[in-house]
Amino acid sequence: MSAELSARAIADAVRVGERSARRVIEDALARLAAAAPLNAVVPYDAARALAEADALDAARAAGEALGPLAGVPIILKDNLWDAGVECSAASESLVGFIAPDTATVVRRLRAAGAVVLARGNMDELGMGSLTARSRFGPAKNPHDLHRSPGGSSGGNAALVAADVVPIAIGSDTGGSVRQPAAWCGVYGLRPTRGVLSRWGLVPLASSMDTVGALTSNLEDLAACLDVMLGADPLDQTTTPRPPWRLDVALQEPPRGLRVGLMITPGAEASPEVWAQVERAAAKLSAQGAIVDRVGFEGLPEALLAYSAICAAEAASNLARFDGQRFGRPAPGDDAEAQARAARSRFGDEVRRRILLGHALGEDLLRRALATRGRVTEAIIGHLDHHDLLIGPTTPTVAAHHDDPEAGRLADLFTAPASLAGRPALSVPFGAVDGLPVGVQLIGRAYGEEALFTAAAALQA
Ligand code: GLN
Repeated sequence: MSAELSARAIADAVRVGERSARRVIEDALARLAAAAPLNAVVPYDAARALAEADALDAARAAGEALGPLAGVPIILKDNLWDAGVECSAASESLVGFIAPDTATVVRRLRAAGAVVLARGNMDELGMGSLTARSRFGPAKNPHDLHRSPGGSSGGNAALVAADVVPIAIGSDTGGSVRQPAAWCGVYGLRPTRGVLSRWGLVPLASSMDTVGALTSNLEDLAACLDVMLGADPLDQTTTPRPPWRLDVALQEPPRGLRVGLMITPGAEASPEVWAQVERAAAKLSAQGAIVDRVGFEGLPEALLAYSAICAAEAASNLARFDGQRFGRPAPGDDAEAQARAARSRFGDEVRRRILLGHALGEDLLRRALATRGRVTEAIIGHLDHHDLLIGPTTPTVAAHHDDPEAGRLADLFTAPASLAGRPALSVPFGAVDGLPVGVQLIGRAYGEEALFTAAAALQA
C-alpha cells in the first residue's frame, strides 16, 4: 500500500483539514468500483458512506477534534451488525435481515472517526476457507484472479491487498482472519479471546469466535485494535482493556525475545512455505531473538477436534434460525412450516455441519474436548519458556476455488490458537511463484505486544 493510503496518513490529513473526509471516501469508492472483478463486497450504498464522511467534515468545521481514525475507510465482514443495514453473513437464510443494533467494535471504530465503506464477501455464516460458498458468488484473490483469497473473511483480505482500504474488520473462529490474510499477503490478527466484544457478531462457534482485523501495515493494525479494545457490558466474556502500548512495541527491537519454531510431525507445510518460515526465524535470530525448535505434535487431531466442536456449537447456535427469531419465515402461521422454510435456505456446508453437530454424540464430543485441553496445555507449556511461537499460517499458498482439500487443510496450523484462545498474527513474509506466504506468530494470553515486536522485526 502506498504510504498516503495508510490509515495513519489519511487520519492525519483529515484531522488537520488537509483533505476532507468526503474526498477520501470518494477516492475509496472509486477504488472499490475498480476492484469489482474481485467480487469482494456485497451490494453497498455509496451514499451512506458519503453521509458518514460529510458528518465528519461538519464536525471538524464546527471545531470538534476528530479521532485517531478520522476519515479512514474500512470494510466490515458481512457478519457484523450495523444498525439499519442488511446483515446476511452471505447466507440465503438471512436475506432481508436488517441489523437491529451496531456491533460494539463497529461503534468504537466509528467513534474514532472510521467510515464504513462497504461489507466484505465471505463464506456463508463463516463456514469455509475459500470464500467460495457465498450467496454473492466466489471472491477472487487480487494476486491471481483464478485463485481464492482464502476465507471466510476472503472479501476483507482481497480489498486490503488490492489497496482499496487500509483496514478491514473480520471474524476468526478457526482461522478466518489469519488464513485469508496469508493468502492475500496482508496482516491478520486473531486477538486474545475476550479483548474484543462479540456483541453484534453473527455467531459460528461461540467458544472460539473472535473479531479480528486485517490491515496492510502494522501501525494501522495497532491503531484499529487500540480503539476497539475494552470491556463491554453487552458481552460478558470481555475483559478490561489490557495496558498495552502497541505503538511502542512496534519500535522495540526483538533482542532477547524467546521464539519457538514449531516443528509439527505429521503436519507439514509445503517445502516452499516452510522455507519462508525458516527464513523468518533466521531474520528474528539475526536481530537478537533467541530461537529454538519446539516439537508440537497432534495437529491433525487438533483439526478434527476443531471441526467437531465447531459443528456442535454451530448446530446449537443455528437452532435460533426458526423463522420466528431469525431466518425468513414461510407465509402463514404454522410454526413448523416456518422453521422448515427458514432452514431450507441453508447451503450444503451449513446443513452438513448442523447434521454433524447433532450426530456427534457425547463420546466423540468429549474426546474432542479432551484434545482441546491437550492442545491448550501444549501451547501454554511452550509459552512458559518462550515469548511466542512461529510457524506457517497455512500449509500452501492460495488455492483454487474448486480445491476443497486445500480448503479443509487451510485450518491445520490456525486451529490450535483458536482451540486455546491464544492470540495469533499472520505476517506477510515472502512469496512463492508470485503468491504471498503468511508466517504465523502465536502468543501468550494478552501477549500481543510480543507479537507486534516480532512482526515489526520481520518487516524491517
Ligand atoms: N475455515 C474454518 C471453518 O470452516 C474457519 C472458519 C472461521 O474461522 N470462521 O470452520
